[in-house]
Amino acid sequence: MAAKTAAELGLYVVLVEKRQEIGEPIRCAEGVSQRSELRELITVQPDWISTEVNGVRLHSPNNDNVSMTVDNREEVGGYILERKTFDRGLALQAACAGAEVLVKTRATGLIRKDDLCTVSVICQGESLQIEAPLIIGADGVESKVARWAGIDTRLKPEDIMVCAQYLVLDDCIDQEYCEFFFGNRMAPGGYVWIFPKGGRLANVGIGIQGSQSCPGEPIRLLDRFMQRRMPRAKILQIVAGGIPTSGPMNNTTSDGIMLVGDAAHQSDPLTGGGIINAMRAGVMAGQTAGKAISSGDVSTAGLKEYEDRWRSSIGKQIEKRYNAKNFFLKLTDDDLNHLAGSLHGMDISRMDMRDLLWFLFKQNPKLLWNLGVLNLIDKL
Ligand SMILES: Cc1cc2nc3c(=O)[nH]c(=O)nc-3n(C[C@H](O)[C@H](O)[C@H](O)COP(=O)(O)OP(=O)(O)OC[C@H]3O[C@@H](n4cnc5c(N)ncnc54)[C@H](O)[C@@H]3O)c2cc1C
Repeated sequence: MAAKTAAELGLYVVLVEKRQEIGEPIRCAEGVSQRSELRELITVQPDWISTEVNGVRLHSPNNDNVSMTVDNREEVGGYILERKTFDRGLALQAACAGAEVLVKTRATGLIRKDDLCTVSVICQGESLQIEAPLIIGADGVESKVARWAGIDTRLKPEDIMVCAQYLVLDDCIDQEYCEFFFGNRMAPGGYVWIFPKGGRLANVGIGIQGSQSCPGEPIRLLDRFMQRRMPRAKILQIVAGGIPTSGPMNNTTSDGIMLVGDAAHQSDPLTGGGIINAMRAGVMAGQTAGKAISSGDVSTAGLKEYEDRWRSSIGKQIEKRYNAKNFFLKLTDDDLNHLAGSLHGMDISRMDMRDLLWFLFKQNPKLLWNLGVLNLIDKL
């Protein structure tokens, strides 16, 4: 999105991707919770979508569940993307807008001197240097660009979600709903998801809090879930990866550098969803690049517009969701069972987080008072 936006504004853009194919391998469950959010950013192509979902089902540790179904299918239901074609489609649009795309090209270093950045790359085995006044680091959770620019992106273990996911084929997948399973034994500090992919396919994954994990733990817990819930499922693909679930980063710009997406820790700390925020931030960074290049000021001060814009929109949301995450982390399995029980028979599909917590507080005043829910509601 950053490359596309900057190229549309007439800048000369080089998009560098280390993999030989954009969009592969995927490290994502591919869910976008609101169709309208994606449509506001781009014209959605049919082959980007695996399936559309019209509800969410939440499972508590005691196997109880609460469903939320949307009545207005067009507006608010979700998409499960086919990120392989989606990511490639975005790169295609950047290329059509004039960006050069270099695949199988790994950035290996960055030096800034005399107002110019020199990025060293290995392009299909050959060492090259690319000079540019401005670099947008959209290189994901393990961002090297940030490190080279001296921006601190270290995450505390409690602020990273470690994930494992299978693409599975099974007969028992509800293709209408995204399902979430909670429980501190099942997924400590996180959850298990089943996101339908159409046909008999689904992404089935687990995310657990980094501070409660150890090597191999996500796969071990995911296998346990699969044995219990989907013992006959056939596993077609394995995905592993981390998601930042921190509050907003202190600093995402430096002279000649902007960070976007997971590199800038812009994913939702509560759910781990990062596609929409990364796209929004990409547009903002591309627009700021256009202004900074034409004004000739790519210093940190010249890039302040990007820092201000994403902080006042995405950043505010991240702050609230971070508070909500820390609240939910305090809940024991018994608490979760109680809260899920009090939602029975309620239509919660139109409630936002604030309304939902307020409703839960009225039903469970003692439990939630002790956990400081009013404090959280105040901050939302
Ligand atoms: C298991 C899992 C499930 C998820 N599920 C969802 C979900 O359902 N919904 C959702 O919204 N979000 C989800 N996310 C988060 C989402 O995938 C990310 O937030 C999103 O992909 C961030 O996009 P990005 O462009 O910032 O980074 P990425 O998608 O990680 O892209 C970074 C790109 O930079 C390239 N790169 C990295 N280093 C270099 C280098 N040195 N040189 C050249 N290229 C380089 C990489 O190859 C990659 O293509 C999930 C994440 C995980 C791990």
